[in-house]
Amino acid sequence: MRRLAVLSLHTSPLAQPGTGDGGGMNVYVRELSAALARAGVQCDVYTRASSDDLAATVDIEPGFRVHHVAAGPPAPLEKEALIDVVDEFADGVLKSMTAAGRFGTDDDVPFEAIHANYWLSGIAGHAIKHELGLPLVSTFHTLDRVKAESSPELVEAHSRHVRAEAEAAIIRCSDTVLASCSVEAAQISDLYGADPTRIRIVAPGVDHAFFGPGDRAQARRALGLAAEGPLLLFVGRIQPLKGLAVAVAALASLNRDHPDARLMVVGGPSGPHGDTEVARMEALVDDLGVADRVIFVPPQPHELLSTYYRAADVSVVPSRAESFGLVALEAAACGTPVVASDVGGLRSLVDHGRTGYLVEEPDPEAYAGWVRQILAEPMLAERLSAGSVLRAQRYTWARAARLLVEIYADLTLGRLVECR
Ligand code: UDP
Repeated sequence: MRRLAVLSLHTSPLAQPGTGDGGGMNVYVRELSAALARAGVQCDVYTRASSDDLAATVDIEPGFRVHHVAAGPPAPLEKEALIDVVDEFADGVLKSMTAAGRFGTDDDVPFEAIHANYWLSGIAGHAIKHELGLPLVSTFHTLDRVKAESSPELVEAHSRHVRAEAEAAIIRCSDTVLASCSVEAAQISDLYGADPTRIRIVAPGVDHAFFGPGDRAQARRALGLAAEGPLLLFVGRIQPLKGLAVAVAALASLNRDHPDARLMVVGGPSGPHGDTEVARMEALVDDLGVADRVIFVPPQPHELLSTYYRAADVSVVPSRAESFGLVALEAAACGTPVVASDVGGLRSLVDHGRTGYLVEEPDPEAYAGWVRQILAEPMLAERLSAGSVLRAQRYTWARAARLLVEIYADLTLGRLVECR
């Protein structure tokens, strides 16, 4: 396997994660493409041109470049409007992939597979698969029927039908569907009737060069925070699915016996309910009397986040659903115990009692209870921290890339899955 077309229609690997449409998928596409390029697979990432100022092609590092494809107006578009530009995007990608000769230019090697991220890219990838006769690998990142199970009120009746049907069609025609953990693999087969033999689990990674343990006092100094006092951390896009309200209420509970405890929130609004959620959080911190205890920080460059994780006593991840949960892995790599909801990928990332704690219900008291215990027992905190670092070492992007190289290679040798 030498060359791969990576589709990431709705969000660019060059975008800032932690707000808007930027999150784990941006990090995943960027880190995996870089790791694949280092493993000898040339990665051409295709994303929608969301501005006139973007160069047609950006070279990121040898073997990894990003192409901006015209599809719809060269301006930001709401995610809900992107379905209308998928066909144009697919045409643009096809044109680029076949620009000179059937595949690639004279000095390029031919494309051997397509890897689509999220359902919108999946629709484009499905069409391109049939045009070029190349195997299709899909990673969904989030799935409509999973979201509908955890938060039915967040799924619009109309889009639910369109998106879930599209996901089912992509799954039926994908040569391989990638899941980040066993929970996601089960969801793909149970909720979409996927053939389990075509699902492969490839866990994402974490860049250990950036995310590693460090001195807490130094990290707090770097962030201008007081050296003393418990600090909880929430990192991520602010939207109802991420459960920030639970973290805020847990802080309010903790403040009863730890009046100096604070919560730092790093991220910005995301999705159609993002702005409302930010307003709701601002009202909530007032209502609960913790406005001066919660520090809102705008989205930070990915590689700077390690300082935030190191500064915290506990990282709180109260998501209602999570296909993987990179934030929990990054915290663990930095030696910060995680208290997280017992859902999705968080179940495989957090080893209850060894690296942190899993909470079954979105119950702030339960979160506060585990945080209290960690704060009360420095030996326990140290043990959880050491366990977290050890566990996080299993996850590297190089390992994910190695598994993928094998998967792509098998696909290029086998027969393509046909549409049913
Ligand atoms: N992130 C970041 N800067 C921020 C907030 C978040 O780089 O200010 C990154 C974070 O490090 C993580 C990703 O955004 O890699 C979020 O991924 P996760 O899987 O936790 O959630 P998702 O966004 O996929 O729902």
